[in-house]
Amino acid sequence: MNYFPIFLDLKGQKVLVVGGGDVALRKVSLLERSGALITVVAPQIAPELMERAASGKLKLAIREFTPGDLDDARLVIVATSRRAVNRWIAKLSDARAIPVNVVDDREASRFIVPAIIDRDPVLVAVSTAGTSPVLARRLRERLETYIPKRFGDLALWLRDLRKVSRRRLRSSLERRRYFEAIVDGPAARRFVEGDQRGAARIAQQLLATTSTAPRAAGEVTLVGAGPGDPELLTLKALRALQDADVILHDHLVSAAILDFARRDAKLICVGKRAGGVSTAQGRINDLLIEHARQGRRVVRLKGGDPFIFGRGGEELEALAQAEINFTVVPGITAATGCAAYAGIPLTHRERAHSVSFVTGHADPDGNEPDWRALAMPGVTAVFYMGLARLDRIVEKLIEHGATPLRPAAIIAQGTTADQRVMTATLASICDISSRASLQSPALLVVGDVVGLHPTLAWFNTPRDVDLLQTA
Ligand code: SAH
Repeated sequence: MNYFPIFLDLKGQKVLVVGGGDVALRKVSLLERSGALITVVAPQIAPELMERAASGKLKLAIREFTPGDLDDARLVIVATSRRAVNRWIAKLSDARAIPVNVVDDREASRFIVPAIIDRDPVLVAVSTAGTSPVLARRLRERLETYIPKRFGDLALWLRDLRKVSRRRLRSSLERRRYFEAIVDGPAARRFVEGDQRGAARIAQQLLATTSTAPRAAGEVTLVGAGPGDPELLTLKALRALQDADVILHDHLVSAAILDFARRDAKLICVGKRAGGVSTAQGRINDLLIEHARQGRRVVRLKGGDPFIFGRGGEELEALAQAEINFTVVPGITAATGCAAYAGIPLTHRERAHSVSFVTGHADPDGNEPDWRALAMPGVTAVFYMGLARLDRIVEKLIEHGATPLRPAAIIAQGTTADQRVMTATLASICDISSRASLQSPALLVVGDVVGLHPTLAWFNTPRDVDLLQTA
């Protein structure tokens, strides 16, 4: 984090603006809304600033800046047209520990002013730490359209409702449920559409029902988090994460995805770190049941899809037995996510008419996959958890009739910024993989479709390097 975001209470505080042109005017207009006591210093002052001074909104000093102007200032904004002067004033401010912003000179500034979406009292501030004003502007535009104009009024209404609800709803959980029902439901929608009476009526009804209804039993949502790229979450997964009181997640789920959780949600990592210990399955089941029984909204978050090598089924069986309600949100499984990001279609009219998802883990009971079927031409085989036993998988496929020239690929950390794709043949893939020292998680894809990778690779691939590898 290059900048620490804060919202400053400037009411009645002296803010010094050095400069009297259009830029200064813009800053003054913004500052005025904060209730700051603004002093403008500049030898020449734009007419609009003069007018404001005349109506008592700000103080003017029509002269050059002197260091004494900094006395008592809480904040300084420097906007003269002379860079050296700006920097000198910035230095002086900094020496006196007064936060200073030099307009359009990030290096000289101690703080920067974000792009804002103002729905007073709701304020959204956007910063790219100066890396891209265009990006900040686009983001702001999106948020502008996303946040209704009456959002601020909605916030004020909710504040009033808080007072009322505190008398009726005793537990903080009940109150949160009540406000979620308002914010997520028809009450807030009506309010922002301008139907205040309708909104109030619904809020009243909700208040009556929330206070008398028995506490809702918790429920568990089994959610697939996708293969890595947080943007591959489904809308349902996102909503479930934002609503959850407790999230039990695997180690594979990235921090960027967990960031979607509420700040007060409890995050419990129950996953296996490479080589480390994982929480026993029975213990995970118990945790899910315990938290749900306490009326919490529990999310069980798994990498990829919960029903593909994710033990999702086993956990649901335990919940069903404990009579806990559950729902399932599917996710993009590693095979489809990685295939897409590696430019390897899993089926193809000329190359593969079926695809199998196979675990590369050894089965404790010694069961083997149908190697003959996987070795057949026209089949794509995707091996999960196969990196550690790569040699054996290749050996088995060749032993059951696959040609050593069949294309094979390893996709490591697929769909993430660290994605790496290695393509080779069955005969050479083990060698290539050990030389490349790929990081898990990784998938092995075997089949003629891999041959399309050089043409279809699009993500995170220096195209020429890739072509060399397959040549
Ligand atoms: N339920 C998950 C799979 C869990 S098993 C799913 O549907 O994707 C874990 C295995 O998935 C890993 O050993 C690896 O083979 C594969 N995997 C998961 N994420 C991956 C990724 N981003 N890139 C490559 N393989 C991945």
